[in-house]
Amino acid sequence: MVRRIISVLGRWLFPPTCVLNAGPASCFDLADHLVAALQPVDAQPHCSRCAVNLPAEGVCPACLQQPPAYDRVVSAYYLDDTLKILSHRMKYGRGDLAVTRLLSALAQAPLQRQQPDAMALIPIPLHKARYRERGFNQAAFLAQDWGRAFDLPVMPILQRTRDTGQLAGQDRAARRRAMQGAFALTETAIALPPVVALVDDVLTTGSTAEAAAAAIKAHDADVGVEIWTVARTPMIK
Ligand SMILES: [Zn+2]
Repeated sequence: MVRRIISVLGRWLFPPTCVLNAGPASCFDLADHLVAALQPVDAQPHCSRCAVNLPAEGVCPACLQQPPAYDRVVSAYYLDDTLKILSHRMKYGRGDLAVTRLLSALAQAPLQRQQPDAMALIPIPLHKARYRERGFNQAAFLAQDWGRAFDLPVMPILQRTRDTGQLAGQDRAARRRAMQGAFALTETAIALPPVVALVDDVLTTGSTAEAAAAAIKAHDADVGVEIWTVARTPMIK
């Protein structure tokens, strides 16, 4: 009750403003028309494994041909220009907290609507060199924030074993090869709950998620692995 009063009072004293155009906003720090234009993944048919948009519910050809190491992608939205700008600011803005909080908050309702099963959240780590460069890991922040929101423990148990460099622009097969074996558990004697979620901001080709999920499955093949992200790239229709 007290938290609710403080929150209502806070919104009255400091009304939300859009982080992109500085204009008025209502529920989130993003103009209402931009929030309304976002495309929640659960509002359209999508692959039950990788969440890519499909003409009808089912499993996409890529997942049928080569089933991914993870069991299910739970992404809040399909990546659009608004989310691209925001996620770029979150990643390279040295912890732009307003943007990071906004993305975390925007994703919460769509994530919950998809009724994920994860009992613990594992942030996908950056390599040490990338972390030094950026000074911030967006996945760690999202995992902490969603852990609080969904009352789930955060287990930062993954590490990058090598620096895979910049993979943007490479095709799916090349990214997959580059990422193979790029993750390991920080300790070998870790007991995991039956289902865990790997957390990141955006899922593109899925090669990072694939490699991280493979590290979890190599540790314990019975653990279910979900991938939770704010956005995933859509298939171009
Ligand atoms: Zn798929």
